[in-house]
Amino acid sequence: MSESTPRTPARKPVRLCVRCYLVTNAPVVVAEVHQNSGPGWNMYACPKCAPHFPPVPDVIDLFPSGRGGDRDGVE
Ligand SMILES: [Zn+2]
Repeated sequence: MSESTPRTPARKPVRLCVRCYLVTNAPVVVAEVHQNSGPGWNMYACPKCAPHFPPVPDVIDLFPSGRGGDRDGVE
């Protein structure tokens, strides 16, 4: 058995940066748009522009253990 599972390179998600309007193949979610009905959608930015956006609030909810005095002293 010398045949390894062929790894089909998943097509990279190409998104349009909402700041510089350039297409990036490494999109960063900078905002989540919620709707009353439907799942809403995400806004993407290229890695260069991403730092210019405030962090996505919803991300904090995903890591509830991150708040509570257990800091690494990163800052
Ligand atoms: Zn950009």
